[in-house]
Amino acid sequence: MVSASGTAHPLAPSWLSVPADANDLPERVWPASAHRAGGELVVGGLTATELVSRHGTPLMVLDEDDVRGRAERTYRAFSHATSRHGGTCRVYYAGKALLTADIARWVLDAGLSIDVCSRGELETALAAGVPADRIGFHGNNKSFGELERAVSVSIGTIIVDSDIEIERIGAITERLGRDQRVLVRVRSGVHADTHEFLATAHEDQKFGFSLDEGEAAVRRIRELPHVEFLGLHCHIGSQIFGVDGFRESASRVLDLHQRLLDGGPVPLLNLGGGFGIAYTRVEDPAPIEELADGIVDAVQTECQARGIALPALAFEPGRSIVGPGGITLYEVGTTKQVAVDTAQGAADRLYVAVDGGMSDNIRPALYGAHYSARIASRVSAADPTLVRVVGMHCESGDIVVDSEYLPSDVAPGDLVAVAATGAYSAAMASNYNHVPRPPVVAVRDGETRVLLRGETIDDLLARDTGLLPPVRNQGEE
Ligand SMILES: *Cc1c(COP(=O)(O)O)cnc(C)c1O
Repeated sequence: MVSASGTAHPLAPSWLSVPADANDLPERVWPASAHRAGGELVVGGLTATELVSRHGTPLMVLDEDDVRGRAERTYRAFSHATSRHGGTCRVYYAGKALLTADIARWVLDAGLSIDVCSRGELETALAAGVPADRIGFHGNNKSFGELERAVSVSIGTIIVDSDIEIERIGAITERLGRDQRVLVRVRSGVHADTHEFLATAHEDQKFGFSLDEGEAAVRRIRELPHVEFLGLHCHIGSQIFGVDGFRESASRVLDLHQRLLDGGPVPLLNLGGGFGIAYTRVEDPAPIEELADGIVDAVQTECQARGIALPALAFEPGRSIVGPGGITLYEVGTTKQVAVDTAQGAADRLYVAVDGGMSDNIRPALYGAHYSARIASRVSAADPTLVRVVGMHCESGDIVVDSEYLPSDVAPGDLVAVAATGAYSAAMASNYNHVPRPPVVAVRDGETRVLLRGETIDDLLARDTGLLPPVRNQGEE
């Protein structure tokens, strides 16, 4: 395959074209403030080398204005889309994508509420000052203790996932004498991923009730004196680019919603999150306004067809709020040409190893996720060459960017930036190989603010209860 700018590398995937300039920063992939100055990548008014001299590598950098801007736009888009039909909506930020106290306050400022799915996320949101009534609590296995905590702080909604959970909430509300609002999560049978959706009668996954079971679950909830049923919830997947999967799912869930109206009010419908972002220049997400209008119009049409009122709507974007504003900076440590057999004979792949990897971003290893990378500390006129950016962990699957074209003179000491790492990378970080988790810093107008401090080796050692006392030199006290 030959492109205008050069011949594709034999090991390059078919979707990846040779860039005319392997220093460029495609707008939809990089944070809003990203540009080059003096050759260097600048984000939030700071160059890559300034950021790294302050905070080291690896470093997760969030463009604060980008994240706040997406939160505001998303909130406005759904509010506008629903108000056109005389409806209302709530937008929850799915905190699991990346939750710190500051990020919680940014999204709150933008008008959003917050979803949590564990005790740790709940306590983070509460400690950040998020009003409890603006928190939704998810999870397929919430413990009695977690539910008790949620009810006792008067959390806004609990999204109920099983019969056992209904029993637990019934017992807790009874004992504490407190009322609790709940949604019932259902599997619509629609699973969506990127441009495709799969529609089945029964989805083989752990979350929620089938549409048939949902009706009985709601009946049980309505019998509980302290539990108020608000409506149904469904979430069909992630990295979804179109409206079709949401329309199909809403149509199925609204059939149940309509039946439930016979037994009492059903004021709300929560359609989940999953709006796709551009990790590479191949993905081209529609503006959020277009998606919001398309989804809400589809729901309104389905409601009209059934002769029922448009319920209040709720949405739960995570990735599309925090993903595009994040980048990760690494330092290149080694490079290596690896000869690989291909149908057209042997070809070399240039491996570029950086000082992080699957411990700060598991998505390539977990999902085969693709990312984009650039040399951040300089521009280079060298011809683009296919590289695989890898980490420093003891796994051959420790891939950071599977396939990317970088200037062929990429070398040890270069800083490499990976785009769109704001969601589900720091949030999924581990200490594999006893690697400390990197800091997360926000940048804005030339200032940095540490949102999560980086771990130290001492942090790691502190958990190990079997360490020997430090070895002292003779004569030392
Ligand atoms: C993960 C999740 C979301 C957010 O998904 P994104 O792809 O980050 O938008 C929303 N709702 C539920 C129930 C989820 O599990």
